[in-house]
Amino acid sequence: MRGRKTQTDSAALVLQAEQPTPLSVIPPIVSSYNDKIRPLLDAVDRLRDLKVTEEGIQLPTIVVVGDQSSGKSSVLESLAGISLPRGQGICTRVPLIMKLQHHSNPEPELSLKYGDRVEQTDESNISEDIVNATNYIAGGGKGISNTPLTLLVKKNGVPDLTMVDLPGITRVPVHGQPENIYDQIKDMIMEYIVPNESIILNVLSATVDFTTCESIRMSQSVDRHGERTLAVVTKADKAPEGLLEKVTADDVNIGLGYVCVRNRIGDETYEEARDISDQLFQTHPLLSKIDKSIVGIPVLAQKLVQIQATSIGRNLPEIVKKINDKLSSCLFELNSMPKSLSSVAEAMTAFMQIIGFCKESLKKILVRGEFEKYKNEKRMHCTARLVEMLDEYSNELHKCGQSELNGENFLMEEIMILEEAKGIKLPNFVPRDAFLFILRGKVDKIKYMPVEFLERVWTYIEEVVICVLLRQSENYYQLQMSARRAGHNLMAKKKERSIKWMGEIVEMEQLTDYTCNPEYVSEWNRLLSGQEAFVKAVLYDVEKPSKIVVQGMGEVEVGHLRQYPNVLFQAFDLKMRMIAYWKIVLRRLVDCMALHLQLSVANLVNIEMEEEIISEVMGHSYGCGSGIERMLEECPSVAVKRERLVKSIKKLKDSKDVVSKIMDGIVTYAD
Ligand code: GDP
Ligand code: MG
Repeated sequence: MRGRKTQTDSAALVLQAEQPTPLSVIPPIVSSYNDKIRPLLDAVDRLRDLKVTEEGIQLPTIVVVGDQSSGKSSVLESLAGISLPRGQGICTRVPLIMKLQHHSNPEPELSLKYGDRVEQTDESNISEDIVNATNYIAGGGKGISNTPLTLLVKKNGVPDLTMVDLPGITRVPVHGQPENIYDQIKDMIMEYIVPNESIILNVLSATVDFTTCESIRMSQSVDRHGERTLAVVTKADKAPEGLLEKVTADDVNIGLGYVCVRNRIGDETYEEARDISDQLFQTHPLLSKIDKSIVGIPVLAQKLVQIQATSIGRNLPEIVKKINDKLSSCLFELNSMPKSLSSVAEAMTAFMQIIGFCKESLKKILVRGEFEKYKNEKRMHCTARLVEMLDEYSNELHKCGQSELNGENFLMEEIMILEEAKGIKLPNFVPRDAFLFILRGKVDKIKYMPVEFLERVWTYIEEVVICVLLRQSENYYQLQMSARRAGHNLMAKKKERSIKWMGEIVEMEQLTDYTCNPEYVSEWNRLLSGQEAFVKAVLYDVEKPSKIVVQGMGEVEVGHLRQYPNVLFQAFDLKMRMIAYWKIVLRRLVDCMALHLQLSVANLVNIEMEEEIISEVMGHSYGCGSGIERMLEECPSVAVKRERLVKSIKKLKDSKDVVSKIMDGIVTYAD
């Protein structure tokens, strides 16, 4: 297809534009060339219509770029043989996808497509219709928009070409243009020329120094060696001097070559314009020196047709592959999404399943200590964390009040209480009231601890439970909200119940001093064994030591005790009883707590959680049906994702249909 013969013939085809020729008259090689290229181009155009680029699949596209007023629209006009909005200021404000299609009918058919609209038009109205459509898309001002406008030109003799005309690059915003117009236009142009599949048709005015062209700078930034850049030099008539040198020197790296043209000006007809152009390049003393293979619109048309064919042939197999890959990945993603629920029965099933999963999960992590599902989340290894919390609680309890033991006030509390409990009675009974009094005081001091501990534990359990509930129900937005509510409610109840229960335990400890644990008596005896020696040392030691070592307590201050010889004996006894008994009390507070927690948690995961969620979901009736019915509503983000995937899949399937029909052509035309 790249033989010289084909090139010449396709140029001939373009040249026939002004004299409509029935297809049967076109030499067979041309029509067969067209027959083969056309379906490929059609396929690419259809992929473009399907917006397959939105799926990240780039299409071979001829992108027309150029500085403002370089003559982009004029070049397109010349190729199409129709009038486009032309002139000063920014005329092209949206990407104009121009599809030229040769057809055998001498009557041209023109249509505009944008958004969902398709408008038929004709040569006398096209310019105005484009302006209107542009205003519709980009507003009446001078702003630009990314939404493309497609112009289909079916005309006898036009080259089969699809090109995108983009707004020209302006450095300085004109009145009424947004301040960042340059960046906006630059971004839009970049979006079109960055993909390797794009062919850059760089329109340069002969009147300027090419090296200063913004459009050259841009195309070089994405195509350094110009391998996919073709230059059209317009206004050859205005600056013939040095043009030949400019295009032969190729200072700006145009890999695909230059074509010099003279476009239609003012009110000339296309026939007139073509004649003037032919005349100019043949007779002008300077312009006639430029090789005929790089001048004129027909040459440009023929080059573009050929470049387009090569590009499509080269890219299509990869595009087919990308469509297939993308389609399978979308399908996979869609299939791995939760099923959307379509009936109450389905919702019910899903609901029961989720409840089951939650229950099982919570049992594992809170009761059985199996956490393979949460291997890397220490927070979720609940049995271990609960023991740690319990240990901490126990340590705090034991630490509390320990410091007061050995200070200067050793035995003073006991002595004071005994002094006040005096009565007319035998002195060698330790009064029980005194013991209880001290006990109540001690319990009072620590009773905030179990409450604090319970607050902490339930907050932790709540966090874990909510986390499990949310994860298990993550695909069902409404259920998730109900589950979270149920979780919070239940945890608040559990916490309250625990604290109430703990209050009772503390009250019990304050009411009665009792234990059947023999350790109490044995410990008391052990501690009491030092009583006699202690009292002796305090009261009768001639050296009057200020500190004495007491078993189990280390060294204590005793100087202050010498003024209470009568109660010292009892005070020591009382102290030792309390020490022995307090150990029992603390142990009871820890043990009870542990057992209580186990029971509470077991009840929670085995029964209460399920009941609470069910009653939360089923019990209430909301404005729009029961909780189960509401489960049918998808979480907005899931719904959006599903919709997006379904849309993509539809698009990709359609695209696949489009390309699969022309695979034979691809095989023939691939490089
Ligand atoms: P665009 O902004 O790049 O689309 O440029 P236009 O196509 O609107 O052209 C800008 C101006 O240059 C218009 O007034 C055209 O008539 C004029 N123009 C375009 N091509 C030629 C040409 O080959 N010769 C001359 N003399 N004027 C041209
Ligand atoms: Mg323009």
